Amino acid sequence: MHSKLEKMTTNRTFTMLKPDAIENGHMGKIIDLIIQSGFTIKAMKYTQLTKEQAMKFYEVHSERPFYMELVDYMTSGPIVAAILEKENAVADFRTLIGSTDPADAADGTIRKSYAESKAKNAVHGSDSDENAQIEGEFHFNSSEII
Ligand code: ATP
Ligand code: MG
Repeated sequence: MHSKLEKMTTNRTFTMLKPDAIENGHMGKIIDLIIQSGFTIKAMKYTQLTKEQAMKFYEVHSERPFYMELVDYMTSGPIVAAILEKENAVADFRTLIGSTDPADAADGTIRKSYAESKAKNAVHGSDSDENAQIEGEFHFNSSEII
């Protein structure tokens, strides 16, 4: 029998609305934009990451000079974590959020509209089906996925 998490491989992505988005009051507008763009919410959690969780989530960046800055920022306030479903979810969501640096992001993207800076860039989106599954499992167990 396949678990709900295994179904995430081709049509699901994982997102976090980052602390700047929450602090700046953009949570509702960003969730609305995600829904209006055709994504279905499969799981959602309002939470705050511990330092240990943030260090593990961003382990892939542990050699980058901004790693501890990123960990400190991601633990600085509440976030919203969510699993989203849509055909071609990973690529379409990356298009919706725009480039890492809002200065480079296309008009109409979430980062262009709501991000503060390259570091405080409002939203995370998985960069592959494999990472979407790993990141979804990091934040949710199968009983939390609709
Ligand atoms: P995300 O993984 O959050 O969706 P991304 O894939 O566009 O973003 P990555 O290269 O994976 O970008 O970087 C992860 C996060 O690290 C960025 O979203 C940003 O918050 C932070 N970051 C990236 N580059 C820098 C930098 N030069 N200085 C500070 N923070 C940075
Ligand atoms: Mg990334």
